[in-house]
Amino acid sequence: MRIITAEEYIAEWNNSTSAEENDAALDDAVLGIIRKVREKQDKALYEYTKQFDGVTLDDLVVSEKEFREAKQFTTPEFLTALKQAAKNIRAYHNEQKEKSWLVEQDNGIMLGQKITPIDRVGVYVPGGKAGYPSTVLMTVIPAQLAGVKEIVITTPPGKDGKVNPYVLLAAELLGIKKIYKIGGAQAIAALAYGTETVKKVDKIVGPGNAYVARAKKWVYGTVGIDMIAGPSEICIIADEKANPRYVAADLLSQAEHDESARAICITTSEQLADSIQEEIVLQTSRLERKEIIDASIEANGRIIIVDSLESAAQVANIIAAEHLELMVEHPTELLPQIKHAGAIFLGSYSPEPLGDYFAGPNHTLPTSGTARFASGLGVYDFLKKSTIISYPRQALEDVSDQIITLANVEGLSAHANAIQIRKDDQDA
Ligand code: NAD
Repeated sequence: MRIITAEEYIAEWNNSTSAEENDAALDDAVLGIIRKVREKQDKALYEYTKQFDGVTLDDLVVSEKEFREAKQFTTPEFLTALKQAAKNIRAYHNEQKEKSWLVEQDNGIMLGQKITPIDRVGVYVPGGKAGYPSTVLMTVIPAQLAGVKEIVITTPPGKDGKVNPYVLLAAELLGIKKIYKIGGAQAIAALAYGTETVKKVDKIVGPGNAYVARAKKWVYGTVGIDMIAGPSEICIIADEKANPRYVAADLLSQAEHDESARAICITTSEQLADSIQEEIVLQTSRLERKEIIDASIEANGRIIIVDSLESAAQVANIIAAEHLELMVEHPTELLPQIKHAGAIFLGSYSPEPLGDYFAGPNHTLPTSGTARFASGLGVYDFLKKSTIISYPRQALEDVSDQIITLANVEGLSAHANAIQIRKDDQDA
């Protein structure tokens, strides 16, 4: 893991362009898939599942029998942990609920905001290299708390034609019955446009690989999307008191996601940097996903040396990481200096996997510096706000001339007329 200065890292950061962003081949592939799904519908879904997932399916929907079979994978430990995680996630997201409001003024004017849940939501749960029951909890629970009535899940099948049983168990725990065995860009296209089997949704949420992310970008506008997720990231600010074993372990916990994951430590201590380097090598040798970790650390792993925690916060704000750990002696004192991060973890005993699975806040977070303007998934992502305006006759009359002036400046005489016609009635 390379040790560099803040200036070197910022230069590197400014020069880095997302390979995916400029990937015309990816666009061609994804647009081709979307087009074919719109034309050939279910037939295209069966063909792509055969081509990309290596299985010929009889049905695109998970059957009752498959839900029953998934139960054999349950252990009491898994079920207890899953239920407790669901409880924590529900409790946290419950605080995010928003209320409709209506304010009445003395002159009878009423202004307000009506909150309505989205009707139909499609959740993409990644399959491919692993199964993610945690993604089911993190996406479905906030949607349910928002009041979304129809929630469907889509996830790629394995080569045996089956969906990951832990995903099914998590879905069943939350009462989700409709699960499609479709992955990749074709799943996103099916949810956006509908097919014979897949009913189109209003919003698509959930993480996935580059094909999924790109397809979400292309269908945005036809449907809503939560965000375009890039590779996972962790940034750790560590002072000289930080435990290098913990810092290394947390960096590796993100590096194992995939080769393009980004693990960065910003520290005021050169001695700590050396110790972290040693720990990275030692711990990686014992981990199962060693090859992925090695590739990710080699390409994107950095330890940045800074002269103060203030500088560390400034660099962290430029990176605007998905996950930011403050492994310093007084994390709450550093917190006010942090402006941009998807999730902030305070102290040595709040490691990132605690948030990934269990604590309660969402793990679907803004990546690739988008924490500058975006937030993690929440109940608010499944709610829409309609504004409410109610003026009594006299209140409109009192402001008619001002509205007509503004409409005329914009050359919109029909707008002015809609006010004038009422004013004339009042004057008559
Ligand atoms: P995936 O479900 O995203 O993708 C698998 C699908 O990709 C396949 O079904 C196939 O349709 C499609 N595909 C594969 N090769 C293709 C090709 N050559 N052309 C067209 N389509 C192709 O699963 P994955 O690939 O394992 O990726 C999962 C991603 O989700 C990882 O990057 C992981 O880190 C991420 N993830 C993120 C979170 C989070 O909350 N941020 C959680 C879980 C997973």
